[in-house]
Amino acid sequence: MLIETLSVFPEMFEPVMSTSILGRARQAGIFDFRAYDLRDWTHDRHRTVDDEPYGGGQGMLMKAPPIYEAVRSIASSGPHPHVVFFTPCGAPFTQAAAERLAMQERLLFVCGRYEGIDERAYDLADERISIGDYVLTGGELAAMVVTDAVVRLLPGALGDAMSSVDESFATGDSGGLLEYAQYTRPAEFEGAAVPDILLSGDHAKVDAWRRENAIDRTCRWRPDLISSARLTDSERALAEQ
Ligand code: SAM
Repeated sequence: MLIETLSVFPEMFEPVMSTSILGRARQAGIFDFRAYDLRDWTHDRHRTVDDEPYGGGQGMLMKAPPIYEAVRSIASSGPHPHVVFFTPCGAPFTQAAAERLAMQERLLFVCGRYEGIDERAYDLADERISIGDYVLTGGELAAMVVTDAVVRLLPGALGDAMSSVDESFATGDSGGLLEYAQYTRPAEFEGAAVPDILLSGDHAKVDAWRRENAIDRTCRWRPDLISSARLTDSERALAEQ
């Protein structure tokens, strides 16, 4: 997979893209990453990418022409990228969206700054994504969040191939629930003991405990996920009690 970003702060990305799992996945050729500077597609002495909004109002807006020129130029070589614009007005980013984006061969992330982007530039977008109901100063952090969530789903990116399958929100067998509680040594800490079943060595019982615990935690902390979770009839009856 090739992931590219277009922004006015391309230097923000390298530390994240060369550290830990992302860094190792990149070195192993599981994904490649390029950060482009939008100012490279300007034509004035000041390399201007923003201007005042029509109709007045606070702040500056990113101009459509450099974004158009940049996206067209980047997309002109290789397979056509799936183009994502980051904006608080986009669809909320979810694990299901990460799984969908992980199927793409090439992603191009367009990051806004200032008060946002001239609406006409969004005509280039295959989709608009928001990473949450809050406002960041720029789309670069959103692009890093989405890159991280996508890359860890790529085959070989994580040491244990199962660890991105059996996780919170995963849409596969775990069915879109929160993950079950996990414990490591010591078996007792500050008066709290690890549940006996997890020490029993009985894998079927451990699996059953984890499933029940995942449903229980989801009901308690994210009841909004229960209606779309993949539950058996008896699990749903219990969850909805
Ligand atoms: N005026 C805009 C609004 O109220 O919706 C906010 C603009 S924000 C200060 C500048 C840029 O940061 C946006 O163009 C977008 O690229 C990025 N951004 C801010 N919050 C975001 C979020 N929650 N999700 C994704 N991108 C975000």
